[in-house]
Amino acid sequence: MADWALIGVEVGADGLPRCGWCGADEEYQRYHDTEWGRPVGNDVRLYEKICLEGFQSGLSWLTILRKRENFRAAFSGFDPGLVARFGESDVERLLGDAGIVRHRGKIEAAINNAQATLTTIDKYGSLASVIWSFEPDRSTRSTPQLLQDVPGETPESKALAKELKRLGFRFIGPTTAYAAMQSLGVVNDHLRGCAAQQDCETDREAFALTVGDIGRDQSNDSPN
Ligand SMILES: [Zn+2]
Repeated sequence: MADWALIGVEVGADGLPRCGWCGADEEYQRYHDTEWGRPVGNDVRLYEKICLEGFQSGLSWLTILRKRENFRAAFSGFDPGLVARFGESDVERLLGDAGIVRHRGKIEAAINNAQATLTTIDKYGSLASVIWSFEPDRSTRSTPQLLQDVPGETPESKALAKELKRLGFRFIGPTTAYAAMQSLGVVNDHLRGCAAQQDCETDREAFALTVGDIGRDQSNDSPN
C-alpha cells in the first residue's frame, strides 16, 4: 500500500466511498460501515472495547476483529460482573484458548479492568458517563481529509487515560484511549467524503441528547 499518511477515501467494489484504512476486507468494511464511530453508551460494550483495544496492542485490529466472537465466548460476553470474579483457573483456561490472544499480562489486565469497571459504576453510575465526559468540544473539530489529519492522541484522550488509570484500569494509555474514543463515537474521525461520516454525525447528535442521562439510565436498567 502507498504512503499510509496519504490514505483518504476509497471507493469499494460495492461502489461505496469509505475510509481507505479498512482496505478490501469485507469484515473490516462492515465494521467500518456499521460500528466504527457510532456512539456507544452501553457499559458492557465500553468495557469490551477497552479490553479488546488492550489485546490489540502490537497486533492489527483486523486480527482482533476476527477473534472477537471467541473473546466474547471466553470472557462471558464481557459482562464485567462475571469477569471480575475470574480467578487463576480462568487465567489458565484463557491461556489455553487458541481462539483468543494468549498473553498473560493482557488477560490479567482484562480481569483487573472488569473490577475497575465495577468500581467506576459504583462511584459514577456508569463507565459511559466517565468516558463521554471527555468528549471534545464539537465546534473545535474539523472533518479530516487524509489519515495524516487524524491525530494519534489528543489532550482529551490523555486526560481520559489518566482518569481511567486513577480508577484502576490497566493497559490503556493516551493512544489506546483515543482509538477507543474513535470507535465508540466519542469523536467522529471518518474522512471527508466517507459514506459513514454523515451517518455517524447524525447518530452522535441524537445520542448527545441522552449523554446527561447515561448514568441514571443504566443504574435503573430494568425491563419495566
Ligand atoms: Zn469512514
